[in-house]
Amino acid sequence: MEKTLKTAGEFALIEKIKKDFARLQTGQNVSVGIGDDCFCFKTGGQTLCVTKDMLIEDVHFKKEWISPQDLGKKAMEVNVSDIASMGNVKPEYVFIGLGAPADTPLKYVERFYEGIKSVCLKYSVLLSGGDTVKSDKIVISVTLIGKACGKIITRNGAKNGDLIGVTNTFGDAGAGVELLYKHGAKYKYLKEEKYLISKQNKPEARLLQARIISEFATSMTDASDGLFISVSLLAKGADLFCEKIPVSKELLKVAGGRQKSLEYALFGSEDYELVFTVPQKRAAKLKKLLPEISYIGCVNSSKKVRYFYDGKEQKTVYRGYKHF
Ligand code: ADP
Ligand code: MG
Repeated sequence: MEKTLKTAGEFALIEKIKKDFARLQTGQNVSVGIGDDCFCFKTGGQTLCVTKDMLIEDVHFKKEWISPQDLGKKAMEVNVSDIASMGNVKPEYVFIGLGAPADTPLKYVERFYEGIKSVCLKYSVLLSGGDTVKSDKIVISVTLIGKACGKIITRNGAKNGDLIGVTNTFGDAGAGVELLYKHGAKYKYLKEEKYLISKQNKPEARLLQARIISEFATSMTDASDGLFISVSLLAKGADLFCEKIPVSKELLKVAGGRQKSLEYALFGSEDYELVFTVPQKRAAKLKKLLPEISYIGCVNSSKKVRYFYDGKEQKTVYRGYKHF
């Protein structure tokens, strides 16, 4: 049977591309190559970081679920989130690729750009170009370039014994999108459910927190495909203590308890919170500076990410978001 993207999977594809192009990547001032949240390279005494993320209609969103303004904001914030993952990096220039059907109302596109603009103003990012094409569905491809202002924190750097830290709460966005799939946008939602949906539609990059965390962290990423996958990206072996995973009171209510909330937190997608590792002796100082972080586990020399609830190991089922 012919291999497809679905049977091979996203990770295997990226690994293959990375290997095929490995030799071409050397000797061009590359600091961080394919496989991290951004590509980083040195030029003119500076380090620049580049990321690209796409949003596709009917894959990442449905038009009825999200306003064009929020769609523009989200397309920007998820890219700023990848820039934040690299530590202390200031986003600077953005390019917007937009594909849309010919009968898309101009008003829709204008509102989408209102959203883009508001985030450009928020982070002082300059819209620097893009491309506009006709397509059957809305396709958004954002390329964002940032300038490193301090140490670059990659996904590789965690040491045995480091604590695993996270910002804010997990699971809201994954629960939010599940509600949208179940009931659509017009349903009469409870206020807690509305909160979860707003977390799905209006993510906010943790740029300021990242700057502070970068002074302490040994590795970092942003959670786009669930907390479990994020931790797996940073450490081959780790123990997570589920009691310590922060979940919102809204998720606890809607999911109906902690156990179900934890499933969303570990395996739900699109939280865009930071996941990082910190040497134990530095952890308390960072927590003092950023009370909104939680330490949820530690890196160890085992070959597996395990998670415990009430002292008992839970079965590790791979339930993270699969792109194919
Ligand atoms: P993130 O979720 O942080 O955006 P991804 O999982 O999308 O990261 O990508 C992981 C790495 O693989 C990144 O370095 C990204 O640039 C690279 N990558 C993803 N898709 C491709 C592709 N089609 N060609 C080359 N590199 C890719
Ligand atoms: Mg990322």
